[in-house]
Amino acid sequence: MGKPPAERSMVRYDFAARRLYIEVPLDGGTRVELNPAQGHYLRNVLRLSDGAEILVFNGRDGEWRARLSGGSRNFALVALTQTRRQEQGADLHYLFAPLKHARLDYMVQKAVEMGAGLLQPVLTRRTQTERVNIERMRANAIEAAEQCGILAVPGVVEPLKLECVLAAWPQERLLIFCDEDADCADPLTALYAAKRGTPLAVLVGPEGGFDPSERTAILADPSVIRVSLGPRILRADTAAVAILALVQAVLGDWRS
Ligand code: SAH
Repeated sequence: MGKPPAERSMVRYDFAARRLYIEVPLDGGTRVELNPAQGHYLRNVLRLSDGAEILVFNGRDGEWRARLSGGSRNFALVALTQTRRQEQGADLHYLFAPLKHARLDYMVQKAVEMGAGLLQPVLTRRTQTERVNIERMRANAIEAAEQCGILAVPGVVEPLKLECVLAAWPQERLLIFCDEDADCADPLTALYAAKRGTPLAVLVGPEGGFDPSERTAILADPSVIRVSLGPRILRADTAAVAILALVQAVLGDWRS
């Protein structure tokens, strides 16, 4: 996880600038035709007109200042200068049982803001939603990336059953298991005791919690550390933010 100190300074970007994720390759002078939804957003929602400048990124080629141009129907952008070089996303996987719409939207956005590098839906016995809308999650991840200034958009991958996740678990990746049934002990002690510098993952369960056999299977994995998030039962979306804050502060990119 540890980047050299010089690269770890605060993200330097213009908070007031609008940032737009686009898919095509970016280079100086690249002209990007915007799709109708993007054009509508820039013209009618943000009320930008020809000549206005925004920041664009595609998750691969860094961030670019770009100028809007184009007629009344089709908007286009021309990339001018690179404002930031591409950075790698954090090696922190967020594993979660999918929730229903509004909470899932929130959880995906917050996990991205908190620095998750990959979002892995996990199907458990008590998962409420079997059908998971990956495209909607990707759209939420992109929106959060646009808003919080990161350049690497976290991947959202296809859901996997919990037993498949555990069967294929790479032993070097620490799996921080948020267990509402764990004795309420200090989570910081558990995290400080964990080996540093290893790839990380966090697992938060469904609203119905884990079933006892699932808990046994998770705890049998030697890569797992079990943490409690205090004496109250948190909603899964709250647990997401709480554990990611603890992990980032102790093991992740909040450390100076
Ligand atoms: N229905 C369950 C609670 C599930 S809460 C029950 O009543 O027991 C959803 C998920 O959030 C849990 O599976 C767990 O991963 C996490 N979580 C919520 N509160 C927690 C706590 N106090 N400690 C650790 N994890 C917690």
